Amino acid sequence: MTNNLEIKKTILNKIKEYDRILLFRHFRPDGDAVGSTKGLAAIIKATWPEKEVLHVNEDYAKYLEFMGSENDPVPEEKFADALGIILDTGDIGRTSSKKHSLCKEIVKIDHHIDRDPYGDYSWVEDHRAAACELVVDFYDTFKDELVMTKEAATYLYTGIVTDSGRFRFREVSGETLRLAGLLLNFGIDTETLYANLYLDEFSQLKFKAHVYEAMKMTENGVAYLYVDKAMQEEYNLSQEDASASVSYMDSIKGCLCWIAFIETGDAEGTIRVRLRSRFAPINHIAEQFRGGGHACASGATVYNEDELLQLVNAADAYIKEYKETHEGWL
Ligand code: AMP
Repeated sequence: MTNNLEIKKTILNKIKEYDRILLFRHFRPDGDAVGSTKGLAAIIKATWPEKEVLHVNEDYAKYLEFMGSENDPVPEEKFADALGIILDTGDIGRTSSKKHSLCKEIVKIDHHIDRDPYGDYSWVEDHRAAACELVVDFYDTFKDELVMTKEAATYLYTGIVTDSGRFRFREVSGETLRLAGLLLNFGIDTETLYANLYLDEFSQLKFKAHVYEAMKMTENGVAYLYVDKAMQEEYNLSQEDASASVSYMDSIKGCLCWIAFIETGDAEGTIRVRLRSRFAPINHIAEQFRGGGHACASGATVYNEDELLQLVNAADAYIKEYKETHEGWL
């Protein structure tokens, strides 16, 4: 049994105590945000069918539509006596819906660095590969009382697979694999799951080919790409398609950091920044530009091309220093 048993017991007791549980996740959802909320909801519903369990979100991701609906209409009067559980959200300002403030009590379950402690009860383990890993650990801790289903296992496995980069990221531990293995034993259809997650449209592959033409590389090995509105129009890209470009740059030898800048087209000129790295943590660079996140996967916001270049230069200077002072990077 892992540490944090006391907070897990408290959360279990809170779930038992409330008749209505409302689940929240971060905006711009990923597989872990959707998987952890839907997975925990499915466990609660299978264990206590009489409880009302609802999802309160105001956005959705088209590429995750295969995971089903997660925007329940919840009338205002249903909040005051409800328990709110916010998953996979380090900073409370990043929730999809702000209505958690109407809930009677709030539970935080998360795996991001705890820079913004919030909630009446908070369980954060930032060494975990995914928030879904925490939910499976929760199930495993209380498996004599909780019911796991194939449906819940599929949601949770989806979150672990996506947030760990198919079990490649450094946060993946023996415990991640053990808990993922536990889920597989519930009969997940992995062929369908991976087809849903990883097949590309023909047009996306054409865009990928363009990314390899258009990306730039700094002197010290920072790859970057600016996906402006013209490029988004030319390749008929949604914001999600455009954002996915960051992962196309993830396998360049000697390039320890890669960054996609996505023009959002809003009135403020917001450019969404997605930063990724290997070996060298880059979240401190994101933090200098209105962002944050994980050591090697973080996000930020810039507002013009000057700031974009400042960020690239800061990353380049840091990667230069990192390479000079560390060995073994590739
Ligand atoms: P993304 O590139 O949006 O997938 O973000 C990667 C990680 O960084 C996720 O864990 C996000 O929650 C986090 N993140 C992204 N943008 C921000 C931001 N502006 N502030 C804090 N964390 C962020």
